[in-house]
Amino acid sequence: MPTSPRLHIESRLAGGKSLTLDEDASNYLARVLRLGLGGEARLFNAEDGEWLARIDAVSSRRIVVTLSENLRPPPQAAGAPLTLLFAPVKKDQTDMIVEKATELGATSIRPVLTERTQTRTVRLDRFRKIAIEAAEQTERLDVPGIAEPALLPRALADLPAGTALIFCDETAGPLPGGTAATVKPIREVLASLGRRPAAILVGPEGGFTAFERAALHGRADTHPSSLGPRILRAETAAISAMVLWQSACGDWG
Ligand code: SAM
Repeated sequence: MPTSPRLHIESRLAGGKSLTLDEDASNYLARVLRLGLGGEARLFNAEDGEWLARIDAVSSRRIVVTLSENLRPPPQAAGAPLTLLFAPVKKDQTDMIVEKATELGATSIRPVLTERTQTRTVRLDRFRKIAIEAAEQTERLDVPGIAEPALLPRALADLPAGTALIFCDETAGPLPGGTAATVKPIREVLASLGRRPAAILVGPEGGFTAFERAALHGRADTHPSSLGPRILRAETAAISAMVLWQSACGDWG
C-alpha cells in the first residue's frame, strides 16, 4: 500500500490538534494527490516528530486536518553533526548538492564564496525548499539548516569549536614557497577522526587558489583529504565525501 505523503510543517504538532494547512500544502494534498475528506498524510518536524493527520475539511484553498497518533518521536541527537561547506557551482549542480546533502544526513549546509567561485549569488529560499522536499522524501524528521553564504575565512571561523574540517584538496602539489603539502586518502582521515563533529569543504569549478590551500593546510584541526587520483566535479566530490563520512563516522554504521 503506498505510504501516505509526508509534509514538513513548521507549526507545533500534538495529538488531537486541528491545523489549517498553508496554500502550498493544501494544494499539494488536494490537487496534486487528490486527497479528500478522510484522506491521510504524515506531518513532521524536528521538535515534535511525525504525526498521522486526517483531512477533516477541504475548501477551495485550504485543508484542515486533525492530528491523531504519533508515528515517530522527535529525532534524538543521533550521530555527530555534519556540515557541508561548498562553493556554489552551476544552478542544477548546486541544487543537486543541496538535495543530496539532505538525503545524506547533513545537519547544516553553507554556500562558501572562495576566490574562484563563479556563482556568487544564491537563492536561500530555493535551497530551503529543495531541502524540505528532500527531507520529506528521505523520511528525515529534521531539515538541515541552510546558512547564509559567507567568504571562506568567515565560514571557517563560524564552525563550532571542536569541528574537524575535512578539506577536499584535489591538488597534490606543494604549497607556495615549496613546502610539501600532506594530503591523505579520505579513508585514512576518516578512520582517524571517528565520530567527531565534522565539516566537509569542497571548492568551485576552478578549485582553490594556492593562497587558500596554504591557509587551509596551516589551519588547526583541518584534514586535507584526497578523493582519489581523478579530478571530480564539485557535486561528485561533495556527494562522495559525504557518503564516505556517513559510512565511516556517521549513522550508516
Ligand atoms: N582544480 C580542479 C581542476 O584542476 O580542474 C577543479 C576543482 S574540482 C572541479 C572542485 C572541487 O572538488 C575541488 O576544489 C575539491 O574540493 C573537490 N575535488 C575534486 N576532485 C578531488 C579529488 N580527487 N580529491 C579531493 N578533492 C577533490
